[in-house]
Amino acid sequence: MGAYGAAQDNAGQGRETMEIKTIGIVGAGQMGNGIAHVCALAGYDVRISDISAEALEKAMALIDRNLERQVSREKISAETKAAAMARITTTMTLSDLGPSDLIIEAATERETVKQAIFEDLLPHLSPNTILTSNTSSISITRLASRTDRPEKFMGFHFMNPVPVMQLVELIRGIATDKETFDACLAVVDRLGKTAATAEDFPAFIVNRILMPMINEAVYTLYEGVGSVRSIDESLKLGANHPMGPLELADFIGLDTCLAIMNVLHDGLADTKYRPCPLLTKYVEAGWLGRKTQRGFYDYRGDVPVPTR
Ligand code: NAD
Repeated sequence: MGAYGAAQDNAGQGRETMEIKTIGIVGAGQMGNGIAHVCALAGYDVRISDISAEALEKAMALIDRNLERQVSREKISAETKAAAMARITTTMTLSDLGPSDLIIEAATERETVKQAIFEDLLPHLSPNTILTSNTSSISITRLASRTDRPEKFMGFHFMNPVPVMQLVELIRGIATDKETFDACLAVVDRLGKTAATAEDFPAFIVNRILMPMINEAVYTLYEGVGSVRSIDESLKLGANHPMGPLELADFIGLDTCLAIMNVLHDGLADTKYRPCPLLTKYVEAGWLGRKTQRGFYDYRGDVPVPTR
C-alpha cells in the first residue's frame, strides 16, 4: 500500500522507524471496535478501554461476529480468527493502556472528553508512547499542546466501517516529528490500508468535503425541497453515490455529524458551515442514527422507514 501527499517526502532519511507492537485503543464504540479488529488481525497486541462495561462487551461480541463473517467468506482461516481474538483484551482502567507503543483515542467526538482522557493517561505513559486521536475534526495541534509530547502526537483517522474502508488520513500537528509520522505510516501499511496525509485544519480532507454535503442534504429536507427518500434516491441514482447522504449521516451518527459541522463553523468562521437546525433537532431528540435505532430512518423494524 502507500501514501498520498506529503507522506512521501524523504526528510530525515536514515533514522530508525520505531516499531509498534502494542496498541491501546480508547473508546469501544463503532470506531474503536473496528480499529481493534483490524489491528489484531494484522498481528498487534490490542487493549481497548471504555468507561462503559456494556460498550466493551458489545465491542468484543461484534468483533467476534465480524471476524466470523470473514471466516465464512473464506477471507481468513478459523485459526487466524482465534489468534486475532486472543490478541485483544479489554479494561475499564484507562491507565492500563499506559505501556502501549501506540495509543489511538477513539472516544466520543467532544474536545473536553478527549482532553480529559489524554490528561488522565499522561502520568502512566512510557516515554516512547505515541499518542494519536481518531477525531474527525478537532485540532490535532491543540489536543497535542495539552500533552507532554506534542512531537509524538498526531491524527490517525480511520473511516467507517474500519474493516472495509481502505483509507486512513494521517494528520500531522505543527509539532509532530518525522519518527512519529513514519511509525504511524508503517502501521497503516501493515494494516494493508492506504494513508492520505492531511494538514491540520478543521475536519481535514474527507469530512471537510463530505460533511457540508450531508448538512446541505439536511437543509434540503428542512426546507421541504425533498423527502428523506427522494433526497437519498436522487444522490444514489443521480450522482452514483453508494449510499444517500441521509442514510450515510445515520450510519456515521448524527451527533458526530453535528460535532463536525460545529468544528467547521467555529474553526473556519464562515456561515456556509452553519449546522442545519433540523440536524440539531434530531440530536436533541436523541435520534442519533443507526446506533440509537432512529435517525432520518427508523431501524426498529425489518426495513428502515423514513422518519420524515
Ligand atoms: P461512538 O459513540 O460509537 O463511541 C464512543 C465510545 O467512547 C463510547 O463507547 C463511549 O462509552 C466511549 N467513551 C466516552 N468517553 C470515554 C472516556 N472518557 N474513556 C473511554 N471511553 C469513552 O462514537 P464513534 O462513532 O466510534 O466515534 C469515535 C471517534 O471516532 C470520534 O472522535 C469520531 O469523530 C471518530 N470517527 C467517527 C466516524 C464515524 O463514522 N462514526 C468515522 C471516523 C472517525
